[in-house]
Amino acid sequence: MQLFLLTAHEIHELLIKKEISAEELNKAIYARIEAVDDRIQAYITRTAGKALDQARAVDKQISNGEKVTPLAGIPIAIKDNICTDGIKTTAGSKILSNYTPPYSATVVKKLEAAGATIAGKVNLDEFAMGSSNENSAFFATRNPWDTSRVPGGSSGGSAAAVAAGAAVCSLGSDTGGSIRQPASFCGVVGMKPTYGAVSRYGLIAYASSLDQIGPFARDVTDCALMLNAICGHDPLDSTSAKQRAMDYTSFLKDDVRGLKLGVPEEYMVEGIDPDVRDLVIKAMEKLESLGAVVEYTTLPHTDYALPTYYLIAQAEASSNLARYDGVRYGVRTEGTGDVMDMFMKTRSEGFGAEVKRRILLGTYALAAANYDHYYLKALKVRTLIKEDFVQAFKRYDLLLSPVSPTTAFPIGEKMDDPLQMYLSDICTISVNLAGMPGLSIPCGFVGGLPVGLQLIGRPFDEGTLLRTAYTFEQNTDYHKQYPDL
Ligand code: GLN
Repeated sequence: MQLFLLTAHEIHELLIKKEISAEELNKAIYARIEAVDDRIQAYITRTAGKALDQARAVDKQISNGEKVTPLAGIPIAIKDNICTDGIKTTAGSKILSNYTPPYSATVVKKLEAAGATIAGKVNLDEFAMGSSNENSAFFATRNPWDTSRVPGGSSGGSAAAVAAGAAVCSLGSDTGGSIRQPASFCGVVGMKPTYGAVSRYGLIAYASSLDQIGPFARDVTDCALMLNAICGHDPLDSTSAKQRAMDYTSFLKDDVRGLKLGVPEEYMVEGIDPDVRDLVIKAMEKLESLGAVVEYTTLPHTDYALPTYYLIAQAEASSNLARYDGVRYGVRTEGTGDVMDMFMKTRSEGFGAEVKRRILLGTYALAAANYDHYYLKALKVRTLIKEDFVQAFKRYDLLLSPVSPTTAFPIGEKMDDPLQMYLSDICTISVNLAGMPGLSIPCGFVGGLPVGLQLIGRPFDEGTLLRTAYTFEQNTDYHKQYPDL
């Protein structure tokens, strides 16, 4: 049996029947990491020793007859912008390359409380800024389906690790698509929950009004199990919502009869690869054949989403990244003159080109002379974009679209053209601007590369997303295909 191909819920059955031990499982995942990660390069930091200690503790509980949660003993990879007590957390940046947090993010504490083991910290675009993983200060993670291609970004390491069997599930963060797009490129399930559903405490901030932590998994059931572990109010995050705890697995029903699904026509136009569009149309037909009502609809302000996102996100980033000055966090350039010289040299050497570009853009948009014209205007357009969704959700339970206009592109293809890279976010960023939940589920292959279908739901209606995704999954077999590594 190849343990690294199993889902968390399949493994849980084996664990409680004592057919395998958590120690064995964690060793199997480590052997897999050893076997494939020199080609995939998902991990920045591996934490085998700690994971094995955690696994043995779970084995003890099981042998004592104690009840364990479905994630007990399951090795999970954590995006390296999520703080882990005593484990280096770099945000993919040179400026934090020596940073070891003195505390863990709420999501990490919750996973550990559920008995999950931490397999290690995985690669990302520097400060989560990018769509390909190539902006990491350390190395570019590769797509397990074709190692000459990107895994997507910014949570590329999280998606690639799960697709390659180098973790069972993982956590990523999504500010403008950074969970959904790499999930689509790597053929796994990825979900951005509603803004406020998951605590951001301990997530290294990129754009605080858009950032949200969420899971990657090999199927929808595991995605629901991850949500069960990480969702919920946290007094340590002032934007965390006060929702009631719920069991997300209760939504896993093979039934979409009566659901009304809208397909925004702006997400199906020119610029979307025709092969990708065909797969989305096939998915629409599939859901229709299973009893859903599917219609085209409109999100009329979609054209403004990219400039709005890139203004708001960069304005927030320029403020959030001001703290990296060589004094309190991370690396300081030595041998500098006065304190200004130290700040300047530390920041010039510590940040990569894309991060600098964004700090400049954000600072420009926030400057007194430009504020009204750019930042304030972007905030107003954000309201219009959100209103598009509010209107659409009066008629539809859910929206369907492609996740990304294309499949995974070759490494290097878009690196010299930031605008081309930004354009690849067209289907995902509005969801963050509006704060809605979004999910990517495998819906087919083009030339051997996976394609993701995006489901967008009403705020805090993760349940309908899971139900629809689960139904789609039960009636297709894309999630059962693995890259040949
Ligand atoms: N690709 C987008 C960006 O570069 C989204 C990033 C993200 O969601 N963290 O900003």
